Amino acid sequence: MKITRASVTPVPSHYRKELGKNAYIDNIGMQRLEWVVRAQTDDGFEGVTIANRFMRDGRVEDLLKLLREELIGLEVDQLLAVQDGVVTGAGESTSRLFRDHPWLSILAFDLYGNSHSVSAVQLLGGKVRDTVPAYDTTLYFQDFLVPEKGAKQVAEEAAEAKAAGYRALKIKTGRGGRWMLPEAGMKRDVEVVLGVREAVGPDFQIYVDANFGYDGHHDLLEDFIRETVSADIFWLEEMITHDVAGYRAMREMLARYGSNSLLVCGEVDRNPISNTFQDLVDLGLIDGYQPDIVSAGFLKWMEIDRALSGTGVRSIPHNFGNGTFGTFADIAFGAATETFVSLEDERNHPHIYGPFPEFRDGAYVVEEKPGLGIEIDEDLFQSHYATHEWKVS
Ligand SMILES: [Mg+2]
Repeated sequence: MKITRASVTPVPSHYRKELGKNAYIDNIGMQRLEWVVRAQTDDGFEGVTIANRFMRDGRVEDLLKLLREELIGLEVDQLLAVQDGVVTGAGESTSRLFRDHPWLSILAFDLYGNSHSVSAVQLLGGKVRDTVPAYDTTLYFQDFLVPEKGAKQVAEEAAEAKAAGYRALKIKTGRGGRWMLPEAGMKRDVEVVLGVREAVGPDFQIYVDANFGYDGHHDLLEDFIRETVSADIFWLEEMITHDVAGYRAMREMLARYGSNSLLVCGEVDRNPISNTFQDLVDLGLIDGYQPDIVSAGFLKWMEIDRALSGTGVRSIPHNFGNGTFGTFADIAFGAATETFVSLEDERNHPHIYGPFPEFRDGAYVVEEKPGLGIEIDEDLFQSHYATHEWKVS
């Protein structure tokens, strides 16, 4: 079984609402593209991934060149090293390819799985849970979209997430980092968090992400932590830039106010696990590590998971910006990963990959179909997106 054809196609992935700013970037808007990469064998099996990492500053022309030079002609059984049904690493000829372009390793799992009738979950080590919890990650600075409602707007959207079946959500904070005066931003952050807790009630996990919005304002971060202890925040993400002294100070703040919040970060780590993050792990200063599920890819994430084993630090991949594909990829990873906490869910409308697995009690049911469980809706693909499909063979 050889890969004989590959293609790239930009497919818009739509949110259910407009997403506002975070601490450093302006409005996300209504949709983002998924740069869908498909690879097919001569006997009709297919593997899929998205090349969003590559296309952040890459060109379609270069992407096609990469697919032509590196994928076309590869034997499916050369893609991955597999022992007793579980992937142990890259294949002999693919280790450099997957090191340079880790997002392609997910296509390898999908294609290998589809052609051997085995699930990506199995290839990742086997199922450790029947459902993968997910959190609504769409609570951006929604108060800036509807200024007259302010924090109430975010609380209303939180109530909607609960009504839609979610049992966890993440709130963007750090308004004082750029878009408000620092102290006013902290106060709004507090108001939003307390309002959301009131809207969702107890037995509901609240995560908070500041995208480094409290850098240079440790005093205000301490105010934020103190004022939100009653909201029982499950994790605090990127409140400040990763740094040993800063994280030590944050641990002390949490202890001072009796907070049990976990400290998590790592989505900006492009070469995991790089030194500062390794220091934070070794010193016990973080509780969760978050390189992106697609950018880092499955092979790297398996490596990370092994490296974190025994440290108490949980594997919680970042997934924002990966569209509907990221949901499928992260369900597979979460299903097979012991310390996984919750899937970052953009709640995109499903499109070419078909419906998502059943969502029940705030979690996706693990279905264990071959590969990632994706079957591209070819009619939809051809009628809507194929005009932008670029192929190599
Ligand atoms: Mg984040």
